Amino acid sequence: MHTCLHDATVIDGTGQILENYSLLIKDQEILALGPAETLQIPAKAKVYTLSGKYVLPGIIDAHIHLDMHGLPDTYHESLVEHKLRTIRSAIEMSNTVRAGVTTVRNMGSAHLIDIAVKRAVKEELIIGPRILACGKIISMTAAGNGYFPELYRQADGIDENRKAAREQLQGGADLLKIMATGAIMNPGGTPGAPLLDIDEMQAVVREGEKEDKHTAAHAHGAQGIKNAVKAGVRTIEHGTLADEDALKLMAEAGVYLISTLSSNFWMLRSAGKRGIPKFMFEKAEEISKTRVETLNKALELGVKVVMGTDAGTPYNFHGKNCMELVQYVEKGIMSPMEAIIASTGTAAEAVGLGHCTGTLKEGKLADCLILKQNPLKNINCLLELDCIHMVFKEGTLVKGEVDPQHWNTSTPLGL
Ligand SMILES: [Zn+2]
Repeated sequence: MHTCLHDATVIDGTGQILENYSLLIKDQEILALGPAETLQIPAKAKVYTLSGKYVLPGIIDAHIHLDMHGLPDTYHESLVEHKLRTIRSAIEMSNTVRAGVTTVRNMGSAHLIDIAVKRAVKEELIIGPRILACGKIISMTAAGNGYFPELYRQADGIDENRKAAREQLQGGADLLKIMATGAIMNPGGTPGAPLLDIDEMQAVVREGEKEDKHTAAHAHGAQGIKNAVKAGVRTIEHGTLADEDALKLMAEAGVYLISTLSSNFWMLRSAGKRGIPKFMFEKAEEISKTRVETLNKALELGVKVVMGTDAGTPYNFHGKNCMELVQYVEKGIMSPMEAIIASTGTAAEAVGLGHCTGTLKEGKLADCLILKQNPLKNINCLLELDCIHMVFKEGTLVKGEVDPQHWNTSTPLGL
């Protein structure tokens, strides 16, 4: 089956703007891309004329938690019986893909819910983005882990870490996630303090490499970042307290920085609302002081910064993922074009899918977001549901002008 996205402005995810272009899709893939005037369109193709509209690659969010739903106190997420939690997660993923996010990397999930939801999307039981799932987060025995029952796989020493990694892979994980430092969202965590040792993290990285799967490290503090980079991780999540040496080490090793500005943005914006635990708010407030500075420094030193939102954390609802791009632009960290590249082309490379998505190019999967407005002039339009004209995932229309599917715009909890 052929589909043609005809006569649009194509923003291809590499920095190019192609005006009056058409994109021809065959089944799941982009067959051709060329000027609207000259591109050959097969007679039976379904043609969508998109004059005045903008075609972008589907957005890639490299850090979400699909089984968390933005509750003010993250502990309350675990009080939901996990079969119901799984169903809620499925609804969230439907909201996410219809908001233009066609790939997500899930960075920790209780009960391996992420792997179940991923499977449901793959089997076309539900509509959702392509999901890369890590299963449980591998952490050393540490204060605060109990705040997220079933989320962490605690492991101490090389052997236990090796086994913990093997368990996630056995469960169907696409990548592994380790705790290199303490966290904001649990009461015992000290974000600046290192957790797993280098040799423990190396054991995890090595297990992943056997199956060509990468490892991501949660890391705020500089020492933990350095340890994780030395252990061979592919991405640093958050990186909020990175010093110049840590950033230089990341740049040299080609390690990506996943920004997660959204988690702070939504939590601090929701300060007046009830329910965010005091410890969590205070740590977020403290760490927010240096976040923009750190991202600017990272870019200056050649670190590739990639979109990740931590969606699912307090008031950080699924489907609002593009707030991350808006934050890049509003805080003067990136231009709108740079923000789009950080959430498409570069994000695909970071999550290991650069060969098949992230840019609009012949041979890649047809993951496309079609906007009614120019995001280069108004980046906020990415957050406006009315502005999202259509979304294709692997050549399948998942959100259209006349949307036959029910689109649940509220969260499953009605918050
Ligand atoms: Zn996270």
